[in-house]
Amino acid sequence: MPYGGFCGPCDAPLTYSGVMGPAELLRDFINTYDVEGDIDELASPAEFTLWLRERDLIREGDRTDEDDLADAITLREGLRNALRADGAVSPGHDAELGALLAVLPLRVGLGPIPTLEPLQSGARQGLARLAVAVVEARCDGSWPRLKVCGESGCLYAFVDSSKNRSRSWCSMRVCGNRTKTRAYRARRQSGAGSPG
Ligand SMILES: [Zn+2]
Repeated sequence: MPYGGFCGPCDAPLTYSGVMGPAELLRDFINTYDVEGDIDELASPAEFTLWLRERDLIREGDRTDEDDLADAITLREGLRNALRADGAVSPGHDAELGALLAVLPLRVGLGPIPTLEPLQSGARQGLARLAVAVVEARCDGSWPRLKVCGESGCLYAFVDSSKNRSRSWCSMRVCGNRTKTRAYRARRQSGAGSPG
């Protein structure tokens, strides 16, 4: 399914038309790997090709190979780390992600609406479009709402639609309670040896 959105400052439609915004596209890309269940939706080049095709990020007939799949996983896990609420990994210090982004050339398109267009075709085009979605999410204001669950065993990506952008977990009922229970136990344990 194609995705789209609107630029915050100028209200111009972003590169692709459709119902899905750039933050939702990135969320779905990150969630192709279920950390908790250790299930990878992108387990083969064929599955990666299908994923890109279904979102109109590559052309009909384009294929991906094992190297492209390895790049996709570098991008996906680099994004997940960059979005971790605990700031465990600084996006500026992910050398592998930085090296990948450096070989996805883009051109500024100066039509009626300025765009960032991938220069390469095939899988590289698909990967570049995912990288462009980061800039588009910043442009439409949704980037700060794109988060990764704060529970270290979950790391599920979600778009925080709360008014004050205060959500830390994908689900308060599951991951929020897990984190709170662990913190409570830790407090009890550390308090057990102290007087009073
Ligand atoms: Zn979670």
